[in-house]
Amino acid sequence: MKIGFIGLGIMGTPMAAHLAAAEHTVRGYDVVPEAVDKLVAAGGSAAKSVADAVDGAEVVITMLPNHPQVEQVVLGEGGVLESAKPGALLVDMSTIRPETSIEVAKVAAEKDIRVLDAPVSGGEAGAKQASLSIMVGGEDWDFAAAKPLLEAMGKTIVHVGPHGAGQVVKAANQLVVGGIYALVGEAIVLMEGCGVDAGTGLDVLAGGLAANRILDLKRESMVARRFEPGFRIDLHHKDMGIAMAAARQADVSLPMTGLVTQLVAAARAMGHGSLDHSALLKVTEQLSGRA
Ligand code: NAD
Repeated sequence: MKIGFIGLGIMGTPMAAHLAAAEHTVRGYDVVPEAVDKLVAAGGSAAKSVADAVDGAEVVITMLPNHPQVEQVVLGEGGVLESAKPGALLVDMSTIRPETSIEVAKVAAEKDIRVLDAPVSGGEAGAKQASLSIMVGGEDWDFAAAKPLLEAMGKTIVHVGPHGAGQVVKAANQLVVGGIYALVGEAIVLMEGCGVDAGTGLDVLAGGLAANRILDLKRESMVARRFEPGFRIDLHHKDMGIAMAAARQADVSLPMTGLVTQLVAAARAMGHGSLDHSALLKVTEQLSGRA
């Protein structure tokens, strides 16, 4: 397939590389030229603009930071909707607020462009290993058309509902991930505060009822205080905002999510926005006078 891929960051570059490795023609664009070079090294080709990436593409994939970038790239001047051919399929894999996904689908339909929201979970490791979980919102037939491409990037690929539903599921994913990071951080601070070796303690936790993927993947780096991203606190701050706004709109109360939202905001306010979200540990340390 002829694919235009826009947004070649931590996630986009390995995802686009998997599509190129699966013998698709991938033309990539990013505002950062070095990001495009990485795709070229992985078998894709370089586009000079969004319009250039989208020109003649059957499928356009976007993997951008947040809704303002998606609005600019998709709805803006020289954007996807101006440049894509009628009948093309736009798969937005960015994590953004559900209402933007719904709006994009509506505006795109007027131009005969089909849209799916398909945010992902699994982090940089999942993107590199093509083992992402992908939660897809949109029409059945568009999901069926996109599935073979999504299978080149992920393992668990589920159609969860209409436009925007993928983003709602992703918001739910992020509140769970944020909560687990906060609690693993608290477990480390508790054990160290009591003079117990936290690495050894977490090894036991990882084999019992407290076992989870974050303990598996991140316990060593957290105990060693290695916080290079991965997934940046700034992006998780965005995602907690999406979850809180969705909760407000749905008239539901999520007290734990509210607390975790504030802890992530504190991490950002302390200047840790560009660190990995496992740096939530630093907030607990600070609160405990152990920073
Ligand atoms: P990133 O910041 O590394 O990548 C985003 C890329 O988009 C950057 O290379 C940036 O230059 C590019 N970009 C921004 N504006 C652009 C524009 N107008 N035109 C073209 N390119 C533009 O972010 P990331 O970590 O790859 O995350 C991308 C999305 O995936 C986010 O919505 C994030 O929440 C989500 N996500 C990230 C992870 C993770 O672990 N990093 C995991 C799951 C989901």
